[in-house]
Amino acid sequence: MTPSGVYVRTPESRAATSAAMRRLPLPGPTATSYGAIHWWLRARYGKAAEHLCAECLGPARDWACVGEYVHDVAEFVPMCRKCHIWFDKIERG
Ligand SMILES: [Zn+2]
Repeated sequence: MTPSGVYVRTPESRAATSAAMRRLPLPGPTATSYGAIHWWLRARYGKAAEHLCAECLGPARDWACVGEYVHDVAEFVPMCRKCHIWFDKIERG
C-alpha cells in the first residue's frame, strides 16, 4: 500500500517505474533485513540515482520506504536526499 497524498505520481515517474519493473527479476524475496531489502531493490530496480525523485523530479539518491520493509517495490520510492529527509520527518516523526 502507498500512503495517499504523500508524493505525486507523474507520467514521467510512472514511466520510469514501469521501465524499472520490466527488468529481469533477479534476487527473490528471501531475507527481510534492512540491508537485504535495499540490496534487493538495487539489484532488481537499479540504484535510486537512476530514477527521478518521486517528490520533486530531481535526481534521486535513496530508495525511501513509504510503507513496510518488505520485498515489494510499491513500498519504496526513489527520492533525493532533501525530500527523503523531509519525508522521514513528516512521516516518521
Ligand atoms: Zn526530491
